Amino acid sequence: MSLLEETKRILAAYRVRPKRRLGQNFLVDEEVLKRLISYASVNEKDNVLEIGAGLGFLTERLARIAGHVVAVEIDPVLVKILSRRLSGYKNVSILKGDILKMEGPPYINKIVSIPPYSISSPLIFWLLKRKFDCAVLTFQEEFGRRLVAQPGVSDYGRLTVAVYYYAEPELLDFIPKESFWPTPEVNSVIVRLRPRKPPFYVRDEELFFRFLRAVFTQKNKKMKKALEVFLSDFKIPKEWLRKISESIPFYERRVRELAPEELALTFNALHEKIVSVRGSEKGY
Ligand code: SAH
Repeated sequence: MSLLEETKRILAAYRVRPKRRLGQNFLVDEEVLKRLISYASVNEKDNVLEIGAGLGFLTERLARIAGHVVAVEIDPVLVKILSRRLSGYKNVSILKGDILKMEGPPYINKIVSIPPYSISSPLIFWLLKRKFDCAVLTFQEEFGRRLVAQPGVSDYGRLTVAVYYYAEPELLDFIPKESFWPTPEVNSVIVRLRPRKPPFYVRDEELFFRFLRAVFTQKNKKMKKALEVFLSDFKIPKEWLRKISESIPFYERRVRELAPEELALTFNALHEKIVSVRGSEKGY
């Protein structure tokens, strides 16, 4: 039986309909499932996390070769189906709940998933705050392109820079929308993320991310102009503002054209200025 037939059969047997709200588009292409697993080089030493396990097709294939699989699913009906379908596998744990509200799970070294696309962005940040060797995930094509975009192209943005800071992202493969059922509106891609030490230094991480958010809302503007909103938070005397924004590197360049390393240099110079202005105001 094909995965498409099996999907329809299971849903009919349990009288359930895919829920759009939860992004329930099931991957029904055996080849793509195999590729996901091989891109993560899953083997018996691995403890794998799967986010949004659905009907458990990927879960089952992971369970056959991984040491342990932790499958997270938010929909209680699907959790019931998963528990029954996977009861023969002693190395599978099924966790019911919202992945974004979960702490752990601990002892995970790989993540292989076809996650719900509605949470792509928060899910990436959830992942990047955790420890693991590699994550192989699918995303909507446009989102995947944003993760790996080069400076200057339209997909390049805050997300690109933030992900690049924490991990090495690779766009590995294309999945046509027909590989899913129900068929979604857009195609997907497979992305691999390997966490790494940040490739450049920033003087204050949290503030750097605030800086990115502020300047990328005006990414077509020159840096000196795009900076204004960010600087307005610091109560810097007016007469200093222009001086500061024209003393940092790349201030005449457009935000969207600056590479992550260049943005970091801009930010670090700015940070130094802000700290010294504040210092002189306080009299030290
Ligand atoms: N991986 C499966 C299902 C993909 S659809 C497959 O390829 O067939 C996405 C799945 O994620 C659905 O089963 C949906 O119920 C589940 N899901 C949606 N939001 C979730 C969340 N916040 N946490 C965990 N699972 C979620």
